[in-house]
Amino acid sequence: MFTKEFYSKKYISILLVLLSVLGFSQKKFTVVLDAGHGGSDIGANRNYGDLGRVQEKDITLGVVLKLGKMLEKNKDFKVIYTRKIDEYPSLTSRTDLANRNKADFFVSVHVNSSPGSSITTQGTETFVQGPNQNKANLEVAKAENEVIFLDENDKQNFANYDPRSPESLIALKIQQSKYLEASQWLGGLIEENFVKDNNRFSRGVKQADLHVLRKNAMPSVLVETGFVNNYDDAAYLSSEKGQKEVAESIYKALLDYRKAINGGFAAAKEPEPVKLAEIPMKNDFRILLMSTATRYNENDAALKGLNYILPIKENNVYKYYYAVTNLASVRDNNLKTAKDAGFRNAMAISFLPNQTLGFGYYTLEVAVSEDKLKNDSYLLKTLKDVERTKEKGIFYYTYGKYKTLEDAVTAQKDIENKGIKNSIIQKVLKN
Ligand SMILES: [Zn+2]
Repeated sequence: MFTKEFYSKKYISILLVLLSVLGFSQKKFTVVLDAGHGGSDIGANRNYGDLGRVQEKDITLGVVLKLGKMLEKNKDFKVIYTRKIDEYPSLTSRTDLANRNKADFFVSVHVNSSPGSSITTQGTETFVQGPNQNKANLEVAKAENEVIFLDENDKQNFANYDPRSPESLIALKIQQSKYLEASQWLGGLIEENFVKDNNRFSRGVKQADLHVLRKNAMPSVLVETGFVNNYDDAAYLSSEKGQKEVAESIYKALLDYRKAINGGFAAAKEPEPVKLAEIPMKNDFRILLMSTATRYNENDAALKGLNYILPIKENNVYKYYYAVTNLASVRDNNLKTAKDAGFRNAMAISFLPNQTLGFGYYTLEVAVSEDKLKNDSYLLKTLKDVERTKEKGIFYYTYGKYKTLEDAVTAQKDIENKGIKNSIIQKVLKN
């Protein structure tokens, strides 16, 4: 009797603790809803005799407001809008808003148009910011990024973002792959719902390099809800019913995603609940593509179109590393991407984050030249204390001493902002 009672009391108190932990620690899931375009930026548009002028900026706002209403009714969610009226917030301010609020997810809603005058292309597709781009996706990236040229502020901000500001992650371009997995997962749920619930045609989840996603410090998707130049899509997306259905599909995907994250991953529905349950490793992993004496610049063909490359010079050899992640599955995926791109001997290399070198330091190799740089050259005028060494008739110029790789990456961004491009981080192993 006693034992039984003892255990049941203990059991109940454990249960209560558990419930309170679950109940109070469940922080709201913050979603930033971004209605694409707006104001003077109409986005994709077409004239139809019966539908009138169908404009992307109206459809995206319609969908986002409906989606926001659904989410606001759910106490688990906090909704932040980049716009609620017909106005044009700059792409930077959209991203900053999300980063400042430490959002859990960023959902940007858009409407597609196909290049040329095709009226048959139709369906939905969801884009995530990814290291692997391909040509077809580049078209969408180009169209969506065109808005950037409307905005002088954006141009400036994208050209030189401050890596130390909290709004932007240090060396974001090599960090982004950390959010890829989650973005792809939500994208998959959204596309699946479009097909299953609304009988839409899905073109799938794709990776692209989109300005509105690039600086986001959280998983993000850009949903292309259909093609404005296809009559059926245009009619559907301009209707209340169509917009409501699109909003519902995204809403249900967000619910499932959040549930999976909060309720332990057992509750997650496929696809791939196991992968998200993955515990991040202590180490970062980069994929070593090649070690060579040749110094390549960012867009050199030798890098086979891969982005997110970090070259590090060590003992007169340049090592080219691709992407970075602390998830084993992403690491394996990155390795596969590298091998598929043609780097057959690529391998994953482990890095301890923020590790200081025992003997030595990191520096930036800012120029390599057969001729001595003139004192009034842009480089020497811009940077103070550039060191020059000569080896086998070649002049090597280095700048700065940094304790960690991360510090060197930050410094590299700084000088990039000053117009010193194509510097390479160099590891110097001595005192
Ligand atoms: Zn758009």
